Amino acid sequence: MAEKVIIIGSGPAGWTAAIYAARASLEPLLFEGAPIQEYYDQGRGPLGQLAMTTEVENYPGFPAGDMGAYLDDSIDDSLRKYMAPHEKTGVSGPELMELMRQQAKNFGTRIINDDISEVDFTEKPFKLKSLGGESFEAHSIIIATGARANYLGLESESNFKNRGVSACAVCDGALPRFRDVPLVVVGGGDSAVEEADYLSKFASKVYLVHRRDKLRASKIMAQRAEENPKIEILWNSKPVEVLGDDENGVTGVRLQSTVDDSERDVAATGFFLAIGHTPNTDFLQGKLEMNAKKYLTWTVPFRTNTSVEGVFAAGDVSDDYYRQAVTAAGTGCMSALDAERYLAAQGL
Ligand code: NAP
Repeated sequence: MAEKVIIIGSGPAGWTAAIYAARASLEPLLFEGAPIQEYYDQGRGPLGQLAMTTEVENYPGFPAGDMGAYLDDSIDDSLRKYMAPHEKTGVSGPELMELMRQQAKNFGTRIINDDISEVDFTEKPFKLKSLGGESFEAHSIIIATGARANYLGLESESNFKNRGVSACAVCDGALPRFRDVPLVVVGGGDSAVEEADYLSKFASKVYLVHRRDKLRASKIMAQRAEENPKIEILWNSKPVEVLGDDENGVTGVRLQSTVDDSERDVAATGFFLAIGHTPNTDFLQGKLEMNAKKYLTWTVPFRTNTSVEGVFAAGDVSDDYYRQAVTAAGTGCMSALDAERYLAAQGL
């Protein structure tokens, strides 16, 4: 029998959609992703990007405090015993995701730890196939597969992830390790400038490393970077190695000139990537309308509808602009309400 709604993805958008859909008696079936090492390495494992971050200080409702007792009480014992002991204040990304998952489960969401690898939206009910080879049918679908930050692909870069290397200045920039120290931001677009500007509030200095001699960022943003006394733009430069050690994490960056290949080292305690994101939409190529960067397009303003009636998109997979946990959760809620109304209109 076809499901009323299948949700694909297990970040804030997916879990929020599940909480709303479950409470609306839609009995959602959620695919949380396959726990495959290759997917974790690519930044698209189960529980999404937040599962790879440390403290989350900007998700409303979680001020700093000892979460330990609350986690013990709210998370299933079967899972809690595998979670790291709560040693710090405030909520961490993985904890926040486990809490959302638990909340969705409490309302009856059924969870499958596999990925959807094939879809057929040409007839209704829609047909889906999982990586494990199983087939499913659903009257409505919510796509919440997120996006992954682009990294340069340097070995040293992955060695220092979460120890000074970050692809989210807004998430991590205010952490103590990045205060009053020099930091590096890589990229030349609006994100890079915005992140450099944001980090300059905490850092002693921000080096904006760009591979060309002109920023891609809009004029007003570029001007902001050029006029900020704490930001120094290092033109025609690309990082070839993140420097550091086990004790201190990142301590600097080796840069190579894109003009004459000469190299130099810059001391820095943080290394922030702002070179774009890639949405997890490979399995949807040719099935749903996407923009030039392969993000799913919302076809009705302020609604989560995609180009196929009955298929909705929420979170970063359809947002290359805000990309925050709280905005993803917000659109996840919208997608469940949109699916509920669509199903009601179909008499399902
Ligand atoms: P983007 O505009 O695609 O810029 C990516 C930047 O990263 C480019 O400067 C690019 O260099 C550089 N880059 C890409 N791959 C690289 C590599 N392998 N090595 C070194 N550098 C690399 O992405 P974005 O800045 O994330 O912005 C995404 C969208 O969001 C844009 O439409 C942007 O306008 C918007 N946005 C707006 C705001 C705002 O208005 N406040 C803030 C953030 C984002 P090249 O320039 O040489 O290609």
